[in-house]
Amino acid sequence: MANKKIIIAIDGHSSCGKSTMAKSIAQELGYIYIDSGAMYRVVTLYALRNGLINNGVPDREKLIAGLKNIKITFKWDEFLGKNTTFLNGENVEEEIRRLEVSENVSPISTIAEIRHEMVKHQRENGLNKGIVMDGRDIGTVVFPNAELKIFMTASPEIRAQRRFLELKEKGQEVDFDSILQNVEGRDEIDSNREVSPLKRADDALILDNSYLSREEQLKWTLEKVKEITERI
Ligand code: C5P
Repeated sequence: MANKKIIIAIDGHSSCGKSTMAKSIAQELGYIYIDSGAMYRVVTLYALRNGLINNGVPDREKLIAGLKNIKITFKWDEFLGKNTTFLNGENVEEEIRRLEVSENVSPISTIAEIRHEMVKHQRENGLNKGIVMDGRDIGTVVFPNAELKIFMTASPEIRAQRRFLELKEKGQEVDFDSILQNVEGRDEIDSNREVSPLKRADDALILDNSYLSREEQLKWTLEKVKEITERI
């Protein structure tokens, strides 16, 4: 059936444009878009606000106990053309993108109990298909049966440069070296953690976008969607 809705899972390294691409595909196809990284960022923000991270080390027990106090929701912002993330009804979209959150998120996302809660929430969103979700374990753990899986990557320097420009545009004080360090550090923790490490699912297509424009990536992906939806 030509217009059958599918699940599109996009995983890959930090700051390689997964969210931007996922968002465009969702818009093109009229699908829901969920940024799973935003969920781990919200938990990190909650931990920072409540003093549950000391010298980069999360207080595991207190954080797990506090999970019941964290309600994460997304709302589509028509004006900005993007999803906005809420923590207990408060718009935290800007705050969760700050470098302080990026610097603390990977240790938090190694905690199995936290992942369990996030994955449950993520799966609920995919019940009716017609969804694009990006993250680190979407094709391997959250939706292992996704009809289309993409593993995105680009060189660390190119990714850091993109993130640098993005944060600078938002008026944040940032230096390139800290960002490069953050990008490489997160890749290292995300790829080597015990629970759901970042890795390419065997059936994921690789998309190295170091030298591809957003339009080229979108075109490539939409072609894959077309091939799949015509086949199923
Ligand atoms: O995608 P983003 O860079 O915003 O994700 C922030 C962090 O959240 C990642 O570095 C990773 O540690 C964690 N994450 C994860 N699993 C996901 C999505 C994000 O562990 N599915």
